Amino acid sequence: MELIKKIEAAIRNVPDFPKPGILFKDITPIFLDPNLCNEITNAFCHSFTQTKPDAVLGIESRGFLFGMLLANKLNVPFILARKAGRLPGKTIPQTYQLEYGSATIEVHEGVIKKDWNVLIHDDLLATGGTAQAAAQIVKKCGATVLGFTFVAELAFLNGKQKLINHSNHIQCLIQY
Ligand code: AMP
Repeated sequence: MELIKKIEAAIRNVPDFPKPGILFKDITPIFLDPNLCNEITNAFCHSFTQTKPDAVLGIESRGFLFGMLLANKLNVPFILARKAGRLPGKTIPQTYQLEYGSATIEVHEGVIKKDWNVLIHDDLLATGGTAQAAAQIVKKCGATVLGFTFVAELAFLNGKQKLINHSNHIQCLIQY
């Protein structure tokens, strides 16, 4: 079976989670299949063998999973972008708008080096607000966004539009 079909088969749709009207794409069944995890990591790696990033930045929390595997396979540092208040050290925060209200993610100060090319990873691209906030943190550090990787994209939400200004290298393995 081709990779796209395997991912589609593994992702579980959970209606009305975490609130009514949301069709939640649950990627956790992917992690029950080590061969599939390996294939997905390789698919991301393949795009960045010519232009290797200096680091991978993973977004809390499901972005940590393939983010870490990808960084390890590329043999580059892995950096955590966490929700506000969860990192113990001094941080660089970025607030972004949600449908109702706002949210903040942050990265430990000093871990993203000036002039680095950073690859941003999350499990799913929806409106693009979270990944855009991660890109803004990368820029605040004087670094460049090399690209974005996602397992899945909710294409009808046009999240790519928010990211294209930061990098046009946006890889989503499957689209809904
Ligand atoms: P956004 O900032 O709108 O692109 O939202 C992306 C973040 O929210 C990612 O960290 C996703 O894990 C999560 N997310 C948003 N919508 C969904 C959904 N329908 N299913 C699963 N995760 C989602």
